Amino acid sequence: MTNTFCPIPWIFQAVRSNGDLRVCCQANVTKNKGVIRKSNGTAYNSGVDNLQEARNAELMKNIRSNMLHGKWSEECGRCQREEDNGLTSRRQYENVQWKYSIVDALTDTASDGSIDIEKTPVIYYDLRFGNFCNLKCRMCGPSDSNAWFEDWIKLTGKNTFNDTSGEITIENVNGKLCASDFDWPNNESFWQQLEANVHNIEHVYFAGGEPMLIERHYEFLQKCINVDAAKNITVEYNTNMSTLPPRVIKLWEKFKHVRVGASIDGMDKVLEYQRYPAKWDKLHKNLTTLDSMPENIQSWFAFTVTAYNVFHMVDFMKWKLQESNFKRISGTKSKPIVSHHVAHNPEHLNIRVLPPELKIIATKKFDDFVQWVEDNNYPDYVLRSARHIRNGIIKYMNSESYYEEYWDYFVTYTKSLDKMRNESLIDIEPIFEGHFK
Ligand code: SF4
Repeated sequence: MTNTFCPIPWIFQAVRSNGDLRVCCQANVTKNKGVIRKSNGTAYNSGVDNLQEARNAELMKNIRSNMLHGKWSEECGRCQREEDNGLTSRRQYENVQWKYSIVDALTDTASDGSIDIEKTPVIYYDLRFGNFCNLKCRMCGPSDSNAWFEDWIKLTGKNTFNDTSGEITIENVNGKLCASDFDWPNNESFWQQLEANVHNIEHVYFAGGEPMLIERHYEFLQKCINVDAAKNITVEYNTNMSTLPPRVIKLWEKFKHVRVGASIDGMDKVLEYQRYPAKWDKLHKNLTTLDSMPENIQSWFAFTVTAYNVFHMVDFMKWKLQESNFKRISGTKSKPIVSHHVAHNPEHLNIRVLPPELKIIATKKFDDFVQWVEDNNYPDYVLRSARHIRNGIIKYMNSESYYEEYWDYFVTYTKSLDKMRNESLIDIEPIFEGHFK
């Protein structure tokens, strides 16, 4: 096997929130953000284009060809860098996950990198349903959530923002702010194409916007059940947990596996601050329901680490272990506390933006947490996980500084949103007092 082969360009298809098709979310690292384009430069878009056609676009053919010749494509730079640094890349993970191997790929691929799209169907989808969401999280923006539109206009003084399809205009239609670029999930042809492939599908990852608010997604689940395909399919979500309708729980019963990443990155006021206007009590109630789900439903805390909540994260992890009573959510031996990821963007909320003296305090808090886990005689796998979380976050935070470039904007941005939302960072995280002039 070459050391660059990855099954993703053969068996997978990914849709950005604006409907543009891309290689995979890891390929986001290029200037083009890994988007698959036609020869005239426009992106293949799920709202208007044929999904199958995009699979043999130039970019896809080149990436396959490179992989079969042991070369890295620019789009795969993140996986390459992670492997160079001794980390496990998505490429390595996907090679373990899927049976589709380089032997299959060599048989299925023509010399120009094209494949027979009927013979090699898509078995794995990553679908981000527009930007329809009920929250306007501080680390998000108008591409991620339409709830952000009003604050975006107030914050920037502009009714436009950029995405992979170019400049997007926020329009006021009868008093409602909207951007039609994100309406692509209403395109019936997209769903028909997905349903036509339903017997080949093994895994669908749904994210947003907020997937639980997308009506057509429920119909898709029902369709999988009706044609007896659900028993072969794993459905996976990233959801903000603001709603967990009984009907989705009923539908999930019929699927092979359900995997739910609960986007929870704090408790009480910290969560409400980062994920405005979420209400902790409601989320907690839904988490309690999620924790009592049947065996085919696996769930975890998908904790996004930002400059706002990195200090609180330690309290959250102690709460998870000691008080929460959650047994199923983040209850596996490999990840018994949380599944975290650092918010790389926006840079002004990245933990690297913190002043050196606050980084020292954060480092100590995480060191003390590891000691606390040790002192409280938690099993070895919990201690291993605590160390892993500590090392990942602290090493990342301290390896570079964004302070000079972005701290002033962190302060301006935070104060502006605080004013608009009648909130205060100092109230929810007093550690910033004295650093926040
Ligand atoms: S190697 Fe990495 S970036 Fe490239 S397709 Fe595979 S997962 Fe995506």
